[in-house]
Amino acid sequence: MRPCDLPPTSEFDAQEARVPGKGLRRIAGKAIGSIAGRFGTRRKRDEHELRIAAAVFESQAGMLVTDANGVVQRVNRAFSRITGYEPADIVGRNPRMLRSGLQAPGFYTDMWRQLREQGHWQGELVNRHRDGSLYHERLDVSAIRDAHGEVLHYVGSITDITREKSASARIEHLRYHDPLTELPNRSLLQDRLAHALQADSRSGEYGALLLLDLDDFKNVNDSLGHAFGDRVLVQAAQRMRRAIRTEDTLARFGGDTFAVLVEGLGRSRAEAATRAAGIAAKLRHALQQPFQLDARAVSCGASIGLTLFDGDAEQVDVLMREAELAMYRAKELGPGGLCFFEQAMQQELEARNALEADLRAALETRQFLLVYQGQYDARGRRIGAEALLRWMHPVRGLLGPGCFIELAEQTGLIEPLGQWVLEQACVQLAAWGREDGNCALTLAVNISARQFRHGDFVERVLRAIAAAGADPRRLKLEITESLALENLQDTVRKLRELRARGLSVALDDFGTGNSSLAYLAQLPLDQLKIDKSFVDQLPQDPTSALIVQAVLAMGHGMGLQVIAEGVETTAQYEHLAGLGCDAFQGFLFARPVAATDF
Ligand code: C2E
Ligand code: MG
Ligand code: MG
Repeated sequence: MRPCDLPPTSEFDAQEARVPGKGLRRIAGKAIGSIAGRFGTRRKRDEHELRIAAAVFESQAGMLVTDANGVVQRVNRAFSRITGYEPADIVGRNPRMLRSGLQAPGFYTDMWRQLREQGHWQGELVNRHRDGSLYHERLDVSAIRDAHGEVLHYVGSITDITREKSASARIEHLRYHDPLTELPNRSLLQDRLAHALQADSRSGEYGALLLLDLDDFKNVNDSLGHAFGDRVLVQAAQRMRRAIRTEDTLARFGGDTFAVLVEGLGRSRAEAATRAAGIAAKLRHALQQPFQLDARAVSCGASIGLTLFDGDAEQVDVLMREAELAMYRAKELGPGGLCFFEQAMQQELEARNALEADLRAALETRQFLLVYQGQYDARGRRIGAEALLRWMHPVRGLLGPGCFIELAEQTGLIEPLGQWVLEQACVQLAAWGREDGNCALTLAVNISARQFRHGDFVERVLRAIAAAGADPRRLKLEITESLALENLQDTVRKLRELRARGLSVALDDFGTGNSSLAYLAQLPLDQLKIDKSFVDQLPQDPTSALIVQAVLAMGHGMGLQVIAEGVETTAQYEHLAGLGCDAFQGFLFARPVAATDF
């Protein structure tokens, strides 16, 4: 739309039209004089000037026109909307009435000086609305002068930037605070810790960093929902805040983990340790009472890790890691544990990190091998084998899975490693299939949880079988109770698919979990493997004898084959065979050996 198309709609326009050549027309006419100059006759020009001026005046921005003394002459509708003052309230008065009293001393003096000297001022300020509330505005003031340079008017344009301001203040706040609990977040904690380290190295006093993790919080979340869990966190935060001094920092470290930074614990390490332990006890006490929410009472204990610092050459990230390590150790101690960081933990962590690096390298440089332990029927004939993983470590020698499987699970390395085991086992199975004496052997492969849970697990197994040209009916997968029951539906679906392709499934270490029979009965299985710990106690221990007898009866009742593992003595074998055990594995029969010795 061209400026001249603007309709003369405003009230102001109509009024001003009655007194041409006066007031705002002159002012706005100056500002847009170049546009107005394009028009021919003077009358026509005046009309256009008026319309344009009116349109400009009634723009989105609040406008205010004063005389040379700063007395308000005109305001527009946007101005009234922003400030709450109608023209009748403010015309003839000084805009000083809008002041909030929050500007720094000298603010207005500077503003007026600049206006006088440069004819223009722009800035942000806080004013007070007629209803008493505060708002942020951006103000743009220009002096309008006559041909001799004499100030005739001041024209101010204001924009309400309250929302912008509060949004950016909120964003700034969120950068350093946790939105749920409003506590400082990890970044702010880091800042404060850095400060504390400096201050403490000057004062020579000890400080402490405590990491506190709610016990069983996952349960609260899982059983009562995240919204409920969030409310527990908020309450927990409030209680802890009250349990410590105002100068201590309580931060949300993430999830259900909080951090407390305390300084000024004294110059002796022993004293600082005692006082820090006292703070830990207070925090734990604060959380002890159940949380009352919606007529529900939930309890959440806390495990606390603690590290002391005195500022000497200490680093923020090192301290945070120390506190974290101590907290993990506290968790291991069981609910409500408290643990101080010790150097030994660091060494353990380093050893673990080294092992992890070795493990990664081992996968690439093929340091793994499989050994095979025979499985026998009641008459002592070899019917199959279990593939067991070994690591030929370049420095530490031959390592059993006890040294590295758990770490491989935790780091996710079990996925490629487990896949390698499967592929290797299938190759061996295919090779046996071509040998007269071994073609009927089955081969059992241990499957770990993470490997099993992978979405492509079934496909991966089938691909390994196909690639090696092995007979799927001779491959057996060993899973544990805990794996099977962790996600029963997924387990049942995958096992059904695999069994439909001819594979069989054994439940390893049976009897060590405490799963209900009702769940176990839903699993599509072929074999139960009685755990070595029961076999060990045979035949003298009556409880083990009873358990073994019950497992056999139950297994057979469910149509499953039962195998005993870890059979070391003839007495064990005879006892088991007497109870009708179908198969045996253990040092009595054979130790795990390389394929070539099998
Ligand atoms: P498992 O599946 O229960 O394997 C049986 C373990 O008992 C093997 O230990 C075996 O060497 C040992 N064993 C067998 N008979 C006897 C005996 O008469 N006396 C004694 N003292 N021990 C006996 P290994 O090879 O150290 O394996 C330990 C565990 O590591 C296995 O327990 C299995 O859970 C896991 N594992 C082994 N290989 C793999 C693998 O390829 N993948 C996964 N995910 N886990 C594996
Ligand atoms: Mg096994
Ligand atoms: Mg076992």
